[in-house]
Amino acid sequence: MTDAPVLLVTGGSRGIGAAICLLASAKGWRVAVNYAANQAAADAVVSTIEAGGGAAFAIKGDVGNAGDIVAMFQAVDDRFGRLDGLVNNAGIVDAPARVDEMSVERIERMMRINVTGSVLCAAEAVRRMSSRHGGTGGAIVNISSMAAIIGSPSQYVDYAASKAAIDTFTIGLAREVATEGVRVNAVRPGVIATEIHASGGLPDRARDMAPSIPMQRAGTAEEIADAVLYLLSQEASYITGSILNVSGGR
Ligand code: NAP
Repeated sequence: MTDAPVLLVTGGSRGIGAAICLLASAKGWRVAVNYAANQAAADAVVSTIEAGGGAAFAIKGDVGNAGDIVAMFQAVDDRFGRLDGLVNNAGIVDAPARVDEMSVERIERMMRINVTGSVLCAAEAVRRMSSRHGGTGGAIVNISSMAAIIGSPSQYVDYAASKAAIDTFTIGLAREVATEGVRVNAVRPGVIATEIHASGGLPDRARDMAPSIPMQRAGTAEEIADAVLYLLSQEASYITGSILNVSGGR
């Protein structure tokens, strides 16, 4: 187990991130489970992994805070001594609003957590994994959203724009480090049944949206995790700069 590859999942305590952590462990990764506030949820993910014979630990850190990001990667270095993968999963929505109703504070928080946080985490990962920095390679998967394509009018255009930035960042970074052993891809989830909808004030959103989805249902966190673990794996060795829709046809 000590030679097992190491994966850091931001926002690994709940929802899609938790499903990624659990599947990664089942596939042999040691897992660093980042969370922002819900230590009990992060501890539960770690306990489940350990009960299954895997290795994991929880790291508190706000990806909207540059100092927290540096400390988080240092904690992974101290605990596991290597890094082979990063999933930029932590992300937020906000209450439904038109653009002309949004405060500057709301927009800056959205961009700081969803965009700046992912860029800074990817930079830390590249410093550890890229052959240019003496690393042995690795993979990054960014969690985008179908909102990047749809635009989410009258709901959260700021969120949609933050995810479009993730798409472009994925393509650019992938090309930048393509000869350095680091692959960079993204997954665009559609409507997935997690607590994020309640955090934006729409607890029934996944159920309510089902009729507008070609497959007539919301997806599960586990269905997103399957796509992420594929992109992290050797089976995806020639895939970089790709953005995979996992959205039931939406
Ligand atoms: P969720 O259920 O609300 O979970 C969010 C996770 O992110 C939690 O682990 C939370 O930690 C963590 N987090 C939130 N803010 C953070 C911060 N500033 N720093 C570090 N961690 C933070 O969300 P989800 O539905 O699983 O969404 C995960 C990702 O998928 C997001 O990027 C989201 O935009 C994207 N996505 C989701 C959907 C969907 O329908 N669910 C669709 C498209 C894209 P705590 O537990 O400590 O709060």
